Amino acid sequence: MNNWYYRELTEIYKKSIKYIHKVSVNPCGQCFRCCSVEAKLGIYLLEYDYIERFLQDHSIFTGRVKFFKDYINKKKKDGKFLYHVCPFYKNHSCSIYQARPLSCRLYPYFSTKEDICFEDCNLISAVQLLTVENICNKLPFLERYYFLVNLYNSYFFNKFRLF
Ligand code: SF4
Ligand code: SF4
Repeated sequence: MNNWYYRELTEIYKKSIKYIHKVSVNPCGQCFRCCSVEAKLGIYLLEYDYIERFLQDHSIFTGRVKFFKDYINKKKKDGKFLYHVCPFYKNHSCSIYQARPLSCRLYPYFSTKEDICFEDCNLISAVQLLTVENICNKLPFLERYYFLVNLYNSYFFNKFRLF
């Protein structure tokens, strides 16, 4: 992953912060379902590579980098996918919090009807439904995000076609 992609995605992650108004410091409390039971969160290839770089840059992951890399490589082949039990969920928290994908950052505050979290989620009243009509107004940085992840996909798949 080259530095330009890395910097662009970091900027988008930073921008996303101002749109997410957490209802409290620890909004999920002791409920970890979205990371540990049946996560419905999507992730793009670029974000996997971003995580991989984060793992390599942080020595606390030494020893687990191979495990994560194997997981990531297996998942990359599935195209766009969902987590089930997220491998980054450890000790009741996200072990890659600074590098987590955008869907984890936005969830559940912004969800589409299909991806809405559990009906008994205690944050359900804070959910803003995203539709094709309102998505760009509610989250304008998504345009840049989708441009970037799609550009990266085409770069990646073209690179593979050369071999
Ligand atoms: S978003 Fe809701 S269902 Fe998911 S972990 Fe948080 S409280 Fe639980
Ligand atoms: S990356 Fe982190 S926030 Fe996202 S599902 Fe995994 S543990 Fe949860």
